Amino acid sequence: MQQDCVFCKIVNREIPAEIIYEDDRVLAFPDIQPAAPIHILLIPKKHIANILEATEEDQDLLRHLLATVPIIAKQVGMDEAGFRTVINTKDNGGQTVQHLHLHILGGRFMTWPPG
Ligand code: 5GP
Ligand code: ZN
Repeated sequence: MQQDCVFCKIVNREIPAEIIYEDDRVLAFPDIQPAAPIHILLIPKKHIANILEATEEDQDLLRHLLATVPIIAKQVGMDEAGFRTVINTKDNGGQTVQHLHLHILGGRFMTWPPG
């Protein structure tokens, strides 16, 4: 738990969010400013500032985070049409919340390249 981290506060239920998926290590909830008809954020409950800060001991957690993506995609019905997963990192990545999170976007065709 990092003081003043908005996603840690969601993990601790200090900020409300509709929980889409939860287990002992990860949590998923809708993005407050959706960039697509379906826009879910998937986070580790452990505070890790970004993917660069993940350590050797986080490897299993990262595996689990990625393994949770298809579970959520199936749960919300994005497995047929497909979806996009994004991890923004630091300034050039456009990261605005300094707690590692994976965007899962779907419900429309995603263009490429990203802006
Ligand atoms: P980033 O730009 O860091 O990759 O993504 C952060 C995302 O978190 C943004 O898309 C933003 O809309 C979302 N966000 C920021 N604060 C909150 C919040 O309090 N609740 C929820 N559900 N999403 C948030
Ligand atoms: Zn945090």
